[in-house]
Amino acid sequence: MAERLTRDDTVEVILLEQGPTAADDADLELAMLPVGPASDRVTHHRSTGGLTLPRGRGPGGSSAVNGGYFMRWHDDDFAGWDRSWDLDAIAAAYTDIDGGVGGGGAMSVRRFADAELTPIASEFENHWAEIGYDRVDSVIPRVGVNRVRSNSRGSHRMPADRAYLWPARGRTSLTVRAGARADRLHVDGARVRGVVLDTGETIVADETILCAGTLASAALISRSTGTASTRRIGEHRELLVRYRPRDDVGARMPLLPTVLHTEDGMEIRCYNGDFARYIDGVEPTGSAIGIALMKPRAAGALVIEAGGAQQVDLGDIDPQDLVQMRSWGERVAEMLADRRFATLLDADSVTVDDDVLTSQHAWGSMPMGGVTDVNGAFLGLDGLRVIDGSILPGPGSSGPHATLMMTASVIAARLASERF
Ligand SMILES: Cc1cc2nc3c(=O)[nH]c(=O)nc-3n(C[C@H](O)[C@H](O)[C@H](O)COP(=O)(O)OP(=O)(O)OC[C@H]3O[C@@H](n4cnc5c(N)ncnc54)[C@H](O)[C@@H]3O)c2cc1C
Repeated sequence: MAERLTRDDTVEVILLEQGPTAADDADLELAMLPVGPASDRVTHHRSTGGLTLPRGRGPGGSSAVNGGYFMRWHDDDFAGWDRSWDLDAIAAAYTDIDGGVGGGGAMSVRRFADAELTPIASEFENHWAEIGYDRVDSVIPRVGVNRVRSNSRGSHRMPADRAYLWPARGRTSLTVRAGARADRLHVDGARVRGVVLDTGETIVADETILCAGTLASAALISRSTGTASTRRIGEHRELLVRYRPRDDVGARMPLLPTVLHTEDGMEIRCYNGDFARYIDGVEPTGSAIGIALMKPRAAGALVIEAGGAQQVDLGDIDPQDLVQMRSWGERVAEMLADRRFATLLDADSVTVDDDVLTSQHAWGSMPMGGVTDVNGAFLGLDGLRVIDGSILPGPGSSGPHATLMMTASVIAARLASERF
């Protein structure tokens, strides 16, 4: 948003980020996610069910710490979006960001190479292809085996700040202030007139854009207006099938190189290794294949007190969804028992978890067309816009990162051209 708006040098933007410094190259290694219990690159939230919910902290936000999977959504995921979001405009914005078929774009996107798959991940692709799923060779994913596209250069993640803010560093109309935590909005009647930092400093603005993420933006609004709220959130819950590989060949490989998208809305994720290898401070539990519920029927809730304290409740999984997830868990366990995997893993080690975990994708607390308008303007307070995961109006068949950036890009372009 900041980069796009300051292409017009008559627009002055001050970007406030609570985290202290930009990630360095060591933090950006694809083979490491700096999100463990001791990491200072994340804010550590917790769900009411006891799951840890780290969120990126520092320029680039979660894009600087995430898995580096950067996939578009399926075309039909936008069916419920307002008509002003037409597929051509969406595709053009994605292409600016991911470079389209040839890759590249602002976020330096590429398709993971064969050499970035462990032998187990290669056999995963072969298995589903042999039983009839297409190997999808398109920039727009669809049902079938989809090789993951990644925002990375070589073995490093490309975070949003490097992609957008670094090239704009010379602009006098753009100020980036790290270590600046917004305590509350500066609210004057029904109008937001800027932000008050936790140091007490007030920054006055004609328009304030909240990009604090799904787990922070709504609480900031409640804290500022002194109103409690309960907001629905979506999440891609995930069931893990674990196994022990015979050889640990995936060291320094990206976390997630290939996925199967199913006709019933699952993303079957073939991870390259144990999460403990990628995240400091996590106990080894075996390598895993994830069954992620991409189109959940049930929602969770952010329960926010008037003072801004909140509980993150990921909610119960709809019983029908749970049956589907468990059935896919069994299919994946059967696949791993197939003779093609016999030399690659210890068949006796295959187990399906009892507990369902999370993908760290929470979205939709202030959806466009509900709490915000089609351009993220917050309904009920003038001068305030929300542009982050909070405004996604529904779930996608792929992870949210690429689509959030596309959404911000389209809205920024509309703001710049004042077309609405
Ligand atoms: C560990 C992890 C792995 C993930 N892996 C993937 C993946 O591989 N692919 C994918 O598609 N998605 C992935 N996601 C999800 C994706 O990264 C997020 O959905 C997306 O980055 C969210 O963007 P956002 O702009 O909503 O918020 P964020 O990226 O969370 O950014 C919010 C920013 O606001 C700042 N902030 C918050 N409060 C304040 C305040 N009061 N004052 C000042 N600054 C503040 C934060 O420090 C942060 O920098 C992952 C997420 C996590 C956490």
